[in-house]
Amino acid sequence: AIINFGSINIDHVYQVEHFVQPGETLASKQYQKLLGGKGANQSIALAKAGTDIKHVGLINESDFSMKQSLIRAGVDCKYVRGTETPSGHAIIQVADSGENSIILFAGANHELSDDLIRQALDGASPGDWVLMQNETNAIAEVIEQANEQKLKVAFNPAPMTESVKSLPLHKIDLLIVNEVEAEALTGTDELEAMEGWFKQELPDTAVIITLGAKGAKLITNAGNTFAEAFSVQAVDTTAAGDTFIGYFLAGYMQESEPAQCIRKACAASAVAVTRVGAAQSIPTLEEVEAFLAE
Ligand code: ADP
Repeated sequence: AIINFGSINIDHVYQVEHFVQPGETLASKQYQKLLGGKGANQSIALAKAGTDIKHVGLINESDFSMKQSLIRAGVDCKYVRGTETPSGHAIIQVADSGENSIILFAGANHELSDDLIRQALDGASPGDWVLMQNETNAIAEVIEQANEQKLKVAFNPAPMTESVKSLPLHKIDLLIVNEVEAEALTGTDELEAMEGWFKQELPDTAVIITLGAKGAKLITNAGNTFAEAFSVQAVDTTAAGDTFIGYFLAGYMQESEPAQCIRKACAASAVAVTRVGAAQSIPTLEEVEAFLAE
């Protein structure tokens, strides 16, 4: 089983001619309210990949429809709690040029309490996995507690911040980063130098670097595994990384062959980039298998 201590956001997406200017009042041509947040997306990807996934997080009591969306996707929401704090949310302007501009408010995502963490980890057994992103509070606390209980820890330091560098990263079993996050962490933009840094600084941590349209590479002390991305017509790369992480972990947790785990994750994220949206673009296992059989 896997327990994801993750963000749940409401994405308010406004289609606009141009980004609103200082002092301007701008009418939006279209509005959509969508479930988002890296945490929720990764839980949905794990559920669609067929994993027993429990999400831990908080939302405002008036937004329980978001919890229903998670449940419908197959995510166990026993530890998704209500609060009076506004839910985490993003105000997203999408301009006619295709560019976006985003205001993010963490809100309830930063209210993980010791009590909720303890409850959620109470039923876990050694060998179970814990997953986190950098959109909640209490990351160091969860890593420490998971270590004490001999649980495996996967961490996706996204979005990257300076504070990530002071986390007990050596206690993480699997670190998943994209090129931007890898560069911020290692101080180099050269893949070989990044690998050297990870092997030196985090010798006991398996590291996945996702390389966008180039593919993904797993770095471990037993050797490296690279897989190329699938060639597809990308329409919207939102949630590509989240889809990759969910599908990769689903296989890796079962100790499947690393090359197979990466291939499946690349296939799932390739399907996701051909579709518009975040959570709604994550394919089911059947869809991924059909894509691989093409
Ligand atoms: P993030 O979305 O976190 O920035 P990446 O851009 O590295 O992460 O994408 C994650 C994975 O999604 C890649 O490893 C790749 O398998 C897949 N992917 C991303 N962009 C494309 C693309 N244009 N074509 C095919 N696959 C892609």
